[in-house]
Amino acid sequence: MPRIASVLLPMPLPEAFDYAEPEGLDLAVGDHVAVPLGPRTVRGVVTALREGAGGNRPLKPVLHRVDDPPLPANVITFVEWAARYSVDVPGWPLAMALRGLRHPTAKPEKAVALTGVQPGRMTPARLKVLAAAEHGPMSAAELARQAGVSAGVVKGLVDEGALEPVLVAADDSVAQPDLTLPPQTLNPSQKAAAEVMAEMLAAGGFQAALLDGVTGSGKTEVYLEVAAAALAADPAAQVLVLLPEIALTQAVMARFEQRFGAAPIEWHSGVSPPRRRRAWEAVADGRARIVVGARSALFLPFTNLKLIVVDEEHDGSFKQEEGFIYQARDLAVARAKIEKALVVLASATPSLESLWNAQTGRYRWLRLGARHGTAQLPDIELIDMRATPPEPGRWLSPTLVKAVSLTLQKGEQSLLFLNRRGYAPLVLCRACGEKLKSPDSDSWLVEHRYTGRLVCHLTGFSMKKPEACPHCGAKDSLVSIGPGVERVEEEARYLFPDARIAVFSSDTVFDPAGARALVDAMAAGEIDILVATQAAAKGHNFPNLTLVGVIDADLSLRGGDLRAGERTFQLLAQATGRAGRHEKPGRAYLQTYAPEHAVLQALKAQDRDAFVEAEMAMREEAGLPPFGRLAAVIASGPDAEALEAYVQALAAATPNAEGVEVYGPADAPLGLVRGRRRKRFLVRAGRNVDLPGFMAAWRARAKIPNSVRVTIDIDPYSF
Ligand code: ADP
Repeated sequence: MPRIASVLLPMPLPEAFDYAEPEGLDLAVGDHVAVPLGPRTVRGVVTALREGAGGNRPLKPVLHRVDDPPLPANVITFVEWAARYSVDVPGWPLAMALRGLRHPTAKPEKAVALTGVQPGRMTPARLKVLAAAEHGPMSAAELARQAGVSAGVVKGLVDEGALEPVLVAADDSVAQPDLTLPPQTLNPSQKAAAEVMAEMLAAGGFQAALLDGVTGSGKTEVYLEVAAAALAADPAAQVLVLLPEIALTQAVMARFEQRFGAAPIEWHSGVSPPRRRRAWEAVADGRARIVVGARSALFLPFTNLKLIVVDEEHDGSFKQEEGFIYQARDLAVARAKIEKALVVLASATPSLESLWNAQTGRYRWLRLGARHGTAQLPDIELIDMRATPPEPGRWLSPTLVKAVSLTLQKGEQSLLFLNRRGYAPLVLCRACGEKLKSPDSDSWLVEHRYTGRLVCHLTGFSMKKPEACPHCGAKDSLVSIGPGVERVEEEARYLFPDARIAVFSSDTVFDPAGARALVDAMAAGEIDILVATQAAAKGHNFPNLTLVGVIDADLSLRGGDLRAGERTFQLLAQATGRAGRHEKPGRAYLQTYAPEHAVLQALKAQDRDAFVEAEMAMREEAGLPPFGRLAAVIASGPDAEALEAYVQALAAATPNAEGVEVYGPADAPLGLVRGRRRKRFLVRAGRNVDLPGFMAAWRARAKIPNSVRVTIDIDPYSF
């Protein structure tokens, strides 16, 4: 009986296509295949096989199998689940799952190997080479290096037939974790948490835990031991650790290497394509036991995944907002369900969603009460900027300046935190009042002094800072308004000319190596004052850092976003949590114009529970997450009329569904991006509503014009 193969292609198509299985090919689900698509040949993955020959028209045949490790059935399930959840086509998550395969398999490399033939003449150098060659085939250069001899010695042995040229597969060895290394001695609350999770692992099946402990309480130590338990229980078990920032991977990789004597597999956009290919293959065939990576690592082809850790689970970076839109924390839970694995969400400031899941017993709630050892949380003081304003054009209040001086005198380090890149967030013409805007978007141009350019942080547009106002032509009339990190650095250099000052932002640190160099310099005491955006505020551990100054604690409270309070609390708790992580006590100052604000009061009192309780009550009252569900529709297009007609048609087609309210259309918060106007609907639904199903049905009820792009965002991060 002939068979039909459903083949899913990594492209924006609504579903898998059917192809005929040629005789003798003997396909299996998960196989990679080449198939015709119109005039092209494309590759895809077999997602189902059934008997039959197609309808009246004969199906086109699968051309051939592509010889890559098959995609595990669980990954196919996950891809399909993710597509439905995100109300998107399955081709996008499939493309993410195949990302490691874009680079071809590494080619075999030239090497030399022993033949057993004795050379005519033996010398000490030749003996060394032959001894080193016992380790197996390797390149002539590597052999000479290992033997400590010149390349000529190796060549001589090849010429005499004692060694022969061979081809070997490229080095794809994966260092294996050594499970006999001694575990860290955990303190009692760490031990209790690790034991509970080890029991959850042993019980098997899907389980979720919230590892909730203040910064520095040793959450990383705890999940290292849970990973050890998972790896020890099953010789094929795999562990995945997800981090919100590439900059954090190096530090976590190093701790795994210390604990297990082998570096884990690293996975993020900064990893080179050949290394990604090797990582993908090692995950697929089980050689990779531990993977540390960014959110896209969730789509790797694990075959025996037992533990997923989502570290800093509250972090907004887990939400991917472009292309395939997803919240990696939620997808991690979904993948754990499919894999019947344990998922551990770790944070000092968990998201309200996760806290709610913990409070209602869906997740095991494991709390680490205090910092490890004698380290204390820093004292937090609010500086009322209305009472003691800095001089015009200055951003550091006298109190903060004094605190930095004292810290310098003691030989300790300070962190000045401002979550704003560049020199000034706004450039204004003093003559005509014009604020310089991005040419095709609703956003101000940010001045960057390092590069002398004005940059749109939304689209990346940049231009040289003009001499004259582009609007009225006045010369020397452009003034920089407000501070960014570069400006705080300038002030710090002026105030503390002898201090060693560095800036940590995505403009000064681009890759993990750069981040590591700065982190190492901090740890080695080569920096006195670090001026930083959130790039440095998360996760890092600086023993001699005792002062944190937050330049503008109100920054993220403005704007009236649903999550503004939560996000500000999390960010500032993280930033202030950098201080005093070891023996020396820390102190943090928050400069604010609204010291009475509940979020800042809760930070000062170190009373997270009070903040959470108030915030939960507000959300419950308003039916917002975690008590209700949200989604957004963003429609955008260059043609305002066509866009308006579409959103009106969509509004008229809104299905009547119980427990669902639709608001809009309205201009999106960024109403113009790259010349495209943007309109938005917001949807609020009860928890029991199938929101993805509702959104998919609604979208299908209005025809989308060619010029309009429609994006559905389930659980939008900003609201
Ligand atoms: P978190 O992940 O909660 O921020 P970490 O795991 O980074 O905390 O721990 C903070 C610091 O305390 C680290 O330097 C870590 O090595 C140390 N530490 C935590 N727990 C222990 C322990 N049980 N024994 C020794 N050092 C520990």
